[in-house]
Amino acid sequence: MANSEKRAASPSKAAKALTPLTDKARIARILAGLQTQYGGMSTALHYGNPFELLIAVMLSAQTTDVYVNKVTPRLFERFPTPEAMALATVEAIEGLIAGVSFFHTKAKHLILTSQILIREHGGIVPGDWHALVAMPGVGRKTANVVVATAFGQPAIAVDTHVFRVSNRLGLAAAKTPEEVEKQLQKAIPQELWAESHHWLIWHGRKICKAPTPRCETCFLTADCRYFQTTKPVPAPRRRTKAKPSLPEA
Ligand code: SF4
Repeated sequence: MANSEKRAASPSKAAKALTPLTDKARIARILAGLQTQYGGMSTALHYGNPFELLIAVMLSAQTTDVYVNKVTPRLFERFPTPEAMALATVEAIEGLIAGVSFFHTKAKHLILTSQILIREHGGIVPGDWHALVAMPGVGRKTANVVVATAFGQPAIAVDTHVFRVSNRLGLAAAKTPEEVEKQLQKAIPQELWAESHHWLIWHGRKICKAPTPRCETCFLTADCRYFQTTKPVPAPRRRTKAKPSLPEA
């Protein structure tokens, strides 16, 4: 039996075969693979400045980036600055973001956050993580995306894709986004934090999907804890060559 067939037929044995490798080596290979595949890719949200990024990320909680990109052009056209949005009515914002999850609450948060930007930060989005999470509707994930994407600071935002993919790969083994964030900060070199979170998101969107990952098309199977410990793959079928028929006498 060929080696590839042995591994495919017995994933738990293959997992044991990974143990001589250090975690550092495994993580380095995973990051190199992700970088090769997704290097240079950033957020799928459309934005033109830090204010638009902040608003788009706030809207994206529980809503796809694709849908957020559908509503933000009209929202930013009508309320292009914190000054304009701070004076908006909840109803006016709601009318522009209908279909976004929790649109009523988010409309209120957009207005309150714009008012805080004017009152406390001169109408400019601060690059300070603690100042961002103090705003209504801005949690760890949103603040991490803003400081990393708009200000180039080292941060790892854990959304649903990063949470799922990190746990499957074995880069993390945690039950909350905050725990995953802390474990990723230990596993990944700091200079790669901001970029690698985009790589994990794109891998989750394209291949390591919920609820069923497309392991058969994945380039990380050799180092993926989920694949190596739980995912049996049928052995490839052998091609049988047809026996040449004997010439008739
Ligand atoms: S091998 Fe499967 S579970 Fe692992 S990262 Fe790839 S798609 Fe996800």
